[in-house]
Amino acid sequence: MKTEVELTEGPQTKKSHLWNAITRYSPNTEPTMAVSGKGSWFTDDQGNRYLDGVSGLWCLNLGHGQQEIVDAAADQMKTLSYFPLTMNHPPAVKLAGKISELLGADYQVFFSNSGSEANETAFKIIRQYHNQTGNPGKYKIISRYRGYHGATLGALSATAQANRRVKYDPGVPGFLHVHPPYSYRSLFDGTPEETDVKAADLLENTILHEGEESVAAVIMEPFISGGGVIVPSVKYIQRVQEICKKYHVLLVMDEVVSGYGRTGEMFGFQHAPGVQPDIVTMAKGLTSGYLPLGATAVKSEIYNVFKKEGKDTHFRHVSTYGGHPAACAVALKNIEIIEREKIVERVRDLGKSKLGKLHELSDHPYVGEVRQAGFLLGIEMVADKETKEPLDDEKMGWVLAECKKRGLIIGRNGDTVPGLSNVLIIAPPLTSTEEDLEFIVETVGAVIRNL
Ligand code: PMP
Repeated sequence: MKTEVELTEGPQTKKSHLWNAITRYSPNTEPTMAVSGKGSWFTDDQGNRYLDGVSGLWCLNLGHGQQEIVDAAADQMKTLSYFPLTMNHPPAVKLAGKISELLGADYQVFFSNSGSEANETAFKIIRQYHNQTGNPGKYKIISRYRGYHGATLGALSATAQANRRVKYDPGVPGFLHVHPPYSYRSLFDGTPEETDVKAADLLENTILHEGEESVAAVIMEPFISGGGVIVPSVKYIQRVQEICKKYHVLLVMDEVVSGYGRTGEMFGFQHAPGVQPDIVTMAKGLTSGYLPLGATAVKSEIYNVFKKEGKDTHFRHVSTYGGHPAACAVALKNIEIIEREKIVERVRDLGKSKLGKLHELSDHPYVGEVRQAGFLLGIEMVADKETKEPLDDEKMGWVLAECKKRGLIIGRNGDTVPGLSNVLIIAPPLTSTEEDLEFIVETVGAVIRNL
């Protein structure tokens, strides 16, 4: 048996029994072994320091080493180490209230452990809701191509990216997909706003063809993230809500990435005046990744259908660790810091004045489009600006490796041509210093210019 010391102290040549997530097998390279972190930076077992330009998996919103969060978890574990949410505990009750307040309407909150679970929970609530309101035929859930909603089979069925699905299809029945508001490669002609609204109209068309009596919900990320950072016009989100209301289709906003300040509003949908989703799912930034926690916030009008005294209308769903007291205590402290330190305003300001400088790369022959919402930024790389042919795998890999050599971790996503990820992802911790942000801009700029 290997000890932790052997693994963390020795050269990374020893056999590891760890199965890494979503990582291609490569016989000559070992994944980086991180051993410590501070702010936006982590250090590997060789003593190299890297700026984490993607906040882990877009979750480390407040960066490493927030002592108050660590203390909140430890204090809670000492006070009440575990308790199931078949009953109450104070951190969960307080957090549910806080989430409802932040969402700006009356919501009831169901806790789980991850974004995938938050979405699975939403799907079950949606189907039971329609069943209990005289519409048992409403079961179909519509999502958009390139959307990402999780790894479990239901959430993966809502995920409409070929590269993540083909090995595991067929998925769960009852999930449909429509085109996203992707103005850079739209199916339609017109300004970005016009093509986005036409994409929304396509959703209406799909609902009509499927039969409105069969469509239960639409799930969308306000800003598609894992599908290559797609930033829609505000009008698109408003139009989707309008269509959902018209056909009694519930609107689920997946705020797993965009929640808690990432895009310069507390929640992504809050960029679109008048939009108030029926259900909001969240995870990641809810705890800044310090502990696992997912949440499904449901408008009270929907929840009321589940609380009929003496009737079998309750939600038959449970998650052992969902809403763990320590995770809820961490989330409460995380939100307290986000508010106290004015993180949302900071993201708005520095997103513009610092990270926004990456828009200057738009003139580069390999840069098709730079898309940004606060600290969520995607650079779509192309081999040819005219034809928009995606940049090949090898060059994309080179950009990431070159950034890493210079001490910066960035990501890569897309599925632009199914299976091809040609969008560079930059989503640093929201607490990154101005110097950190300058380092990101300079490094990415220098590497792209060297391509
Ligand atoms: N929704 C979105 C928008 C996501 O980006 C992710 C994860 N990247 C998920 C859901 C699933 O979250 P988790 O990995 O915590 O299950």
